[in-house]
This record gives sequence, C-alpha cells and structure tokens, in this order.
Amino acid sequence: MAQATAPCSTEIQSIVRQVIAELRAAAPAANGASAANGASAANGASAANGASAANAGPAPLAPATVPWTPPAPSAPVAPESFVGRHGIFASVDEAVRAAQEAFLQLERLGVEGRRRAIAHIRRISIEDAVELGTMEFNETKIGRLPHKIEKLKILGERSPGVEFMRSEVFSGDHGLAVIEHAPFGVIGAITPVTHSLPTITGNAVSMIAGGNTVVVNPHPSGKRVAAEGVRRFNQAIHRDLGIDNLIALIAEPTLESAAELFKHRGVKLICVTGGPAVAKAALESSKRAIVAGPGNPPVVVDETADLDRAARSIIAGAAYDNNLLCIAEKQVFVVSSVFDRMMEAMGRAGAARLNSAQVDALTAKAIVWTGEGAHRHQVACKDFIGQDASVLARAAGTGVASEVELLYGETSVDNPFVPVEQMMPFVPFIRCKDADEAIHRAHESEHGFRHTAIIHSHDVRNMTKMGRLLDTTLFVKNGPSTAGLGLGGEGYISFSIATPTGEGVTTPLTFTRQRRCTLVDDLRILGAAE
Ligand code: NAD
Repeated sequence: MAQATAPCSTEIQSIVRQVIAELRAAAPAANGASAANGASAANGASAANGASAANAGPAPLAPATVPWTPPAPSAPVAPESFVGRHGIFASVDEAVRAAQEAFLQLERLGVEGRRRAIAHIRRISIEDAVELGTMEFNETKIGRLPHKIEKLKILGERSPGVEFMRSEVFSGDHGLAVIEHAPFGVIGAITPVTHSLPTITGNAVSMIAGGNTVVVNPHPSGKRVAAEGVRRFNQAIHRDLGIDNLIALIAEPTLESAAELFKHRGVKLICVTGGPAVAKAALESSKRAIVAGPGNPPVVVDETADLDRAARSIIAGAAYDNNLLCIAEKQVFVVSSVFDRMMEAMGRAGAARLNSAQVDALTAKAIVWTGEGAHRHQVACKDFIGQDASVLARAAGTGVASEVELLYGETSVDNPFVPVEQMMPFVPFIRCKDADEAIHRAHESEHGFRHTAIIHSHDVRNMTKMGRLLDTTLFVKNGPSTAGLGLGGEGYISFSIATPTGEGVTTPLTFTRQRRCTLVDDLRILGAAE
C-alpha cells in the first residue's frame, strides 16, 4: 500500500512544507494571537464579539480629527514548532497550540490527507493490538486480555472514517444550496479507563475524518497506554505526511487539566466519554459538548423468548471484558412463567449461579457507599470492577472454574446490583409477574440515562412498549448488547455513544458543523432550455 501511494505521499509532504513556510511567513501576526492562546485568540475574540457586534450595528466612526497610524510591525518571531513531540504534552496550552498547528496543516491536505492519516491509526491499532492491548490490560488491571486486544482491532477496522462524510443538496427553482460539513477545529476529548486506547482510536478516526484535530485528557489509570498509542499514531503520520500532533495528549492528566481543556479558547468542541461526574461537568461547560455518559442497561425476557438464545446473548454481552462496556447487560427482568427455565438456560450456556447467601456475601463486598448527605449513594467497589468471575465467586464464598465468564443469581429488585452500574461479571435476575412489570422495572433501573436496553421476546407489542417507555439510544432485540454497535447486528461502532446530548453512536459527522453554500438562480440544470 505504501509503495502504490508513494507519489501521493511526496505531493502531500510538499504541501505540508508549503504550509509550514506560509505559517512562518505569517509569524508576527500568528504570534500576536498566540500571546493570548494562539490562533484561537483571534477566533475566540470573533466568536465572543461577533454576535454582539452584529446586534449593536456598525461601530461609530472615529472623529476625523484623530489621525490613524498603522501599528508598528512587531519584531519577527519564528513560530513555535511542536514537531517531534508526537502528541505528548505536559501543558494543556501547548497541546492545544500544537493541535491548532496540526489542524491548519490537515486542512490543506484535503480528504485524501485525512484518509491517509486515519489509515495509519487503523493499521497500528490492528497490527499492534496484541502489544498495546496487553499494555492496557497490565496498566488498568481490569477486564480481560483477549477483549482488550480485540477492542483495539475492532476499533481500528470499523470506526467510521471519511466514508461517512457527505454533503446534502437542495436543488429548486432558485438554484442550488449545498450543505457541507466543516470541521470545528481542535476538539477536547476526555476518555475512560474502561477502554483507554480503544476510545482514543475511535475518537481520533472519526474526529480526523471530520477534519478536526484532538487533545485528549485520558483517565489517569490508563494514561501510559494512551500515550504510547498516541505516540505511535503521530510518529507514523508524521513520517508519511509530515504533520505531527494530529492527536495531542496530556501525559499527566488530572481533573485540573480536564477543566483547563474545557475552558481553553483554542478548543472549539468538547467530547467526553465517562461516568456521571464527567458527564455533568461537560454539560455544565460553556462550550458545546458531546457527552457519552453512563448507562445501566436492563434486559427484559418475556414468555415468548427463545430462552437458550437469550442466555447465550446475555452471557456474550455481560461477560465481555468483564462487563466493562457501557452497553453491557447489567440486570435482567424475567417474567415468572419462564423464570426458572431461564435460570436453567443460563447454566446450560455456561454461566455459574450463586445462591442467595452467596449473592448477599458478594453484595456486601462489591457494592459500597460513597458521598455525603443528599449525595450519598451506592457504587461499585473499585476492587471488583472489571475483575474475573472467579474473583467475584471467591468474594461470594464459593469457587468457579476459570473458564466461567459470568455469575448470575436471583435477587429482589431492592438489591443494589439492580440500580448500580456494577461493571463486573455478576448479573442479578429479578422475577416479575408479567412483561408489563418487567418493562416498568427495567425503566426504573435505567435511571433515565436513555443509554441502552435489551429485550428477548417474539411479541412485538412488548418490544414496542419497552422501546417507547425506555426511550434509549440503543434498543437491542434478541441479541447481545454488542449487536447494537454493529457486532453481530447491523450498524456501525463507536465507543463514544452520546446519550444525554443526543448525537447517538458518534461518527465523523458528529464532529462537524454545517455550512450552507447558496447559488441563486443558476446551476440547476433541469428545466426548459433557453
Ligand atoms: P469516569 O467517569 O471515572 O472517568 C471518565 C473520564 O472522566 C476520566 O478521564 C476521568 O479522569 C474524567 N473525569 C471524571 N470526573 C471528571 C470531572 N469532574 N471533570 C473532568 N473530568 C472528569 O469513568 P470510567 O470509570 O473511566 O468509565 C466508565 C464510565 O464511563 C461508566 O459510567 C460508563 O457507562 C461510561 N462510558 C460511557 C460510554 C458511552 O459511550 N456512553 C463509553 C464508555 C464508558
């Protein structure tokens, strides 16, 4: 592939050299702006002032008696170059400025440049999946190694890229209007520990496909693999295209660096992927935010379901990476007429059942209280998040074979495993009088996150009722939750599923702004000839 496209690479590199030369020539102006946070200062000022200036009408002219003198040219200063950093930064401000520089260069390379940059991210995610997946597993100490590796491969292969970019056209008696999807510029991204590098891979592919660059503040517990992946991506892109820092990363991320990224004038859009705290912080930010927030996906099994298929599906989704996926099955509501048979089906499919004393023992250790006063609530205990079923079984006072992927047991609806997003491979099963009760309990347990819900049923009325009541972003019927991301179901994947802000499974178009280009009365070639 590299050989076949070598001439294009040379051409692109010469464009990059030209852009760098132009940037250098424009140094005094650019530096003037960068004193107040880089090129964004100019943008920020126009964004902040534009609307009010427009509202206020034209500024009054200065009295003619005051002579205007042009500003003295400032001493030429070479533009700061971040080339060679390969995306790794200690300072948020430097990371943003480097990403701005990369954005200007990317803009000049067109869609083909984006495609080529993305091809390197895909290739590295796939080819280095074993090494990077192992690194992620060793660093985060959660989930399952084969799935850490698989996630990188899948995100590398399937994250939506430039093929998702499109324009819309309105053609009519008054000519043409073309709606095009333009980049925002630099995006500030926050990524979770549950899929540190896979989220960065998917975000980078889609954000760059939309023409943007990105600064990532990763979860501190996954920062090393995040930095290594980002370094490799940038190095390969730089070698081929001459652009560095398309993806910049804060090497020592903190809540303070996240807050600084949110506020930086050079950041035009925020995309956060994580739990309730970061979702709230992003929703409260003054910038537009795409928020991929928490979930607590319920499952309903009614009397018409294929129970063996339901059991296999629940295990496939809930046990994947030890239940770390935000879409993973977290609690199951089964109608009483098939409850006992469903429990047997789970056993046949390979899950291990806990009795009620064992469930109680596990609950006491795996769910803990946090917060003060009105904010006091239960959460999953860190020591158990993403651990193997055998570790949970030990905590429950029993043992299971190492190949067991999932534990399950009957609980009351009051068991904290029902409302808490446990992110560990134990799933509570709740007996319900009928499908209506199951659907209503599922609704309560989802907390209105509107993230993901699953039903196993052949009754379209029940499917419809559940779909309408839960109103979730993903609603999967008769398959594992992962089918909702195109894995064994139709559709496409992203590990940033924007729930409260409504963009859904993110694609390159999520990270673009619409621009309309109108040509009045011409270029509609339909109609009577003159
Ligand atoms: P987390 O909320 O602990 O951390 C996520 C990220 O947010 C981290 O980088 C963290 O440092 C940062 N963060 C936390 N509080 C912050 C604050 N106040 N301001 C700024 N940044 C802050 O979550 P996690 O344990 O890393 O990931 C699991 C959570 O993420 C689950 O709730 C899961 O449902 C959710 N998630 C959602 C999606 C989705 O697409 N909707 C995808 C993956 C994970």
